[in-house]
Amino acid sequence: MSQQIKFLNRKVVRKVIALGVALPVAAFLVVSSASTPPSSVALDISPTATSSISRSLVAHPVTGAIPFTGNLKAKKRLAKIAAAKAKKIAAARERARLEKISRNFTRPVLNYRLSASFGAKSRLWANRHTGQDFASPFGSRVRASERGVVVFAGWDGPYGRKIAISHPNGVQTWYGHLSRISVKVGQRVKVGQRIGLVGATGNVTGTHLHFEVRKYGVPVNPVKWLRSMGIRV
Ligand SMILES: [Zn+2]
Repeated sequence: MSQQIKFLNRKVVRKVIALGVALPVAAFLVVSSASTPPSSVALDISPTATSSISRSLVAHPVTGAIPFTGNLKAKKRLAKIAAAKAKKIAAARERARLEKISRNFTRPVLNYRLSASFGAKSRLWANRHTGQDFASPFGSRVRASERGVVVFAGWDGPYGRKIAISHPNGVQTWYGHLSRISVKVGQRVKVGQRIGLVGATGNVTGTHLHFEVRKYGVPVNPVKWLRSMGIRV
């Protein structure tokens, strides 16, 4: 009897052991086949994934920290906008300044085409051209480019009939090759006032006004000078 029990017990033990081994293995196989992670999950620890996590942590809204690169870009963008704004304001100020100044200046002739320019070389002149030529029809009105006092009115060799006007700040304007002179030395003239007529006197090949600007006796570019006073030439 006891032997039978022993035999049965052994049988039960064997079955229990068999089951004890088989069940966990089966359970493991079932569970593992159902929950095998997709390959992408394994990529979660890839460098890109971790770097994106760390970046999002730096820019966390609770800390208020903004990623360094983004901040720099924003700073640069703001600086660019501010610079453009400042440039616009400066340009508007310069326009306003020139508009105000330009009321005190004018072109020496109204009907013209720019011909020989300042600094040009020609067989007509011993040195470089000391003025700007305004090709203009014979008899066109020549006007004082700024208010001043007439300091010369007469014949001056290669200049032909010439007028020189003295202005503030050491500036003189000269008007050459005139056909007629309408002012006298010592006369005060207003800006734009008629002082003579265009001609072809002196050393010329054609009718034009030779307009010269001198600052403390030194010839300067008349076109640049007029433009610096807000006059379109
Ligand atoms: Zn000239």
